[in-house]
Amino acid sequence: MAITYISPRKLKKYYIDPSCDAKFDQQFDGFVQQAMEYARRAVNRLTSSSDLDFARVYETLFKMPKSDKQRFNWANDFRLMNPHSASVRMTAYEHVIGVLRDFATNWRRTPNHWEADVRFHCDAQTRFIPIHHSSSSSSSPRALTYLDPTNSVFNTGSFPSNLTRQAFTSYELSTEGSANGQVHNLFGLTGIQGQSNVQNPARVVIDLGQATWEAFSDSTRRAKRKTSTRYHDNASVSDLGMLLKSKVESKVDDDVSQWSSVPKIIFHEMMHCRYYGLCDANANATVGWQSCMDVVRWGSGPSCVVLNAESYAMLGLMAWLADIRPDDEETAGGYTLSREDEGERVKGVVRFYADITA
Ligand SMILES: [Zn+2]
Repeated sequence: MAITYISPRKLKKYYIDPSCDAKFDQQFDGFVQQAMEYARRAVNRLTSSSDLDFARVYETLFKMPKSDKQRFNWANDFRLMNPHSASVRMTAYEHVIGVLRDFATNWRRTPNHWEADVRFHCDAQTRFIPIHHSSSSSSSPRALTYLDPTNSVFNTGSFPSNLTRQAFTSYELSTEGSANGQVHNLFGLTGIQGQSNVQNPARVVIDLGQATWEAFSDSTRRAKRKTSTRYHDNASVSDLGMLLKSKVESKVDDDVSQWSSVPKIIFHEMMHCRYYGLCDANANATVGWQSCMDVVRWGSGPSCVVLNAESYAMLGLMAWLADIRPDDEETAGGYTLSREDEGERVKGVVRFYADITA
């Protein structure tokens, strides 16, 4: 079976602000790399015809088998950024592979925030300034919003509630400086000339929330006390942050239980970038296993599972669980969704299996 996997293919760049390295103990790029590794693992497992286990995980999360033949047009942003897909209708499986393969392959770190497609920050929003602007809504032309002057983007979400979120993404470009017109720099980037710099017009900004870096620093403190993490032979996916530790990483005697959740948060937010254009399909709860289960398979607009950022991030996390073993388990194998009971499966219960692909 010949399948053409559509991918934007363009090499994309991310920038890590020093505020992230300060809050995450210089390990932030490692978390980005790990998120990309989740995606690589998911692609490898999904495209393996002998990995029946992961096909089942995909079917549970995306509510359709890999073989589902229905083709449809994808998110506007994804198509705009992807010249191949504007005229190609893909199956859900082809789209999932395309997004995950691109995320796993086509991102590089850059030291220049102005050229980056994605910029990571972690400063409790202190760089944002409240501003009245008229571009976001005609009904409330003087709406209060928040400008990130470093990246020339607005955050138009619920700014106070961002303080309690794991992370959030700002993508409405500031019109500030647009009077100066479009400029092309020496590298062929088309940007908006602001006060003194040139910005990548595809930029989005990902802020890691206070809750995320506090959980990270808590886990660091716990690791220093050498409190061991107990394993169970089953667990709910939402508990995984507390229960899991990879054997490889445990060699350095660290408790990675909380850290392991940072890559998944990064994964989720990366799915909101312009190249993938995925959304939070579940307005009530945007993260967690249950939030993925509660979105519909198909729907009008962005409410369906195949456009849901968290479903992709969860698939990546599930692929990585194959590498996780209990402390006392010396054989191969890893964690995956329960095979015994579909009721357990839809609740996100995971168990250890010696043969992970069965
Ligand atoms: Zn989201």
